[in-house]
Amino acid sequence: MNKFINNNLAINGGKPVRKKLFPPYKVIGSEEKIAVNRVIKSGVLSEFAAKDNPNFYGGREIRNLEKEWAKFYKKKHAIAVNSATSGLFAAIGAAGIGPGDEVIVSPYSMSASATAPIIYNAVPVFADIEDEFFCLDPKSVEQKITKRTKAILIVDIFGQTYDYKKINAIAKKNNLIIIEDAAQAPYSFNSKKLSGTLGDIGVFSLNRHKHIQCGEGGMVVTDDDYLAERICMIRNHGECVVESKKTKNIQNTVGFNFRMTEIEAAITRCQLKKLKKLVKDRQKNCEFLSKELKKIPAIKAVEIREKSTHSYYILPFKFNAKIAKVERNKFIDAVKKELPPTAGRETEGVRIVCGYYQPLYRLPMFQKKIAYASNGGVWEKKFYSGQVNYNIKQFPVTEQMYNNELFFIDLMHPGNKKQDLMDVVNAFKKVWINRKSIK
Ligand SMILES: *Cc1c(COP(=O)(O)O)cnc(C)c1O
Repeated sequence: MNKFINNNLAINGGKPVRKKLFPPYKVIGSEEKIAVNRVIKSGVLSEFAAKDNPNFYGGREIRNLEKEWAKFYKKKHAIAVNSATSGLFAAIGAAGIGPGDEVIVSPYSMSASATAPIIYNAVPVFADIEDEFFCLDPKSVEQKITKRTKAILIVDIFGQTYDYKKINAIAKKNNLIIIEDAAQAPYSFNSKKLSGTLGDIGVFSLNRHKHIQCGEGGMVVTDDDYLAERICMIRNHGECVVESKKTKNIQNTVGFNFRMTEIEAAITRCQLKKLKKLVKDRQKNCEFLSKELKKIPAIKAVEIREKSTHSYYILPFKFNAKIAKVERNKFIDAVKKELPPTAGRETEGVRIVCGYYQPLYRLPMFQKKIAYASNGGVWEKKFYSGQVNYNIKQFPVTEQMYNNELFFIDLMHPGNKKQDLMDVVNAFKKVWINRKSIK
């Protein structure tokens, strides 16, 4: 680190460590091109129909993708949808959740993990997160259970699975369904089991920022025949088929159009074959960055859960402002001034971020309790007899991570070479050595 002594920080007008944009994350190649051409040549871009015939379940690419995804994840059913958001909505619907029910959700996630219950007029109840792994804290979950609780929608945040032994035991004891949002953690393991397969229903994302992608898309997995059929109904106008299918319980069979097209399915089939390698390459980069950055006394590398792996959607760290004698935000701002954005994501700035999305209970919809209609909808007394409140004081760990400690790096995906990673390390070291000059 000595080579940085008395360097002028870029934030104070000095020369930055690097100007050349970081390489983009490119996962679409010639295999996908061939697959897309195959679909274009066929002229069939979707084969879905909202009728009780085989087309209810989509066309050739969709069904092949679902077969391959189910085999990869060792699940009885895989169902393709047009986003993970749709997948989460369908999962909540399939679980039979409705007005007056409560679903325990994580506040440290993308908003769809908390809005899914709202779509079915149910009430999201936030629990606090773990200090080391940032997933829902089993102790906090247990405290939030009431007689109205029907499910836990749990998130494998940043790329690491939840504490599935403890949480699944809590769910079993209280007869709750577990919906696992594995959007950020494809191909992570916990006790030799794959992420997305730890609960009753698992949901994956295929949007352009995720490990593998098809533009927009999602996958849902389950071993349960009943839940799988329900998800298919919600995907594709279930109300039109319940009569001919002689569906006994028509609750929550009102459908959406959550259908994936044949082109996206064909692309996803190629992407699935690349997943293992893409995750392994990410792990190599992240392990290098973690090893180097934790040499800085104020920076703590992410902890890995026992018997688990991390697939690093993003690479989190904790910052100790007491040791550094400078606040996290000021320190990270100075680091960012030393580095350029990622090619293709220039508008997002340098991909080093303090906190994460603001904790979801802080969104106006929760603070004002307004979802639908003039009185807010799901929280109205005529629907809901519970007492949920969204006071931020209930979530000390989430607040601490968001406001003070957590930052993450997204400059470590495959495509970044050793020198790219070294530039990131050098930016941190330069700022660390010269932190007294941060104003
Ligand atoms: C990306 C993401 C989603 C939503 O995925 P889409 O496919 O964009 O709908 C949901 N949950 C988490 C945790 C995510 O990271």
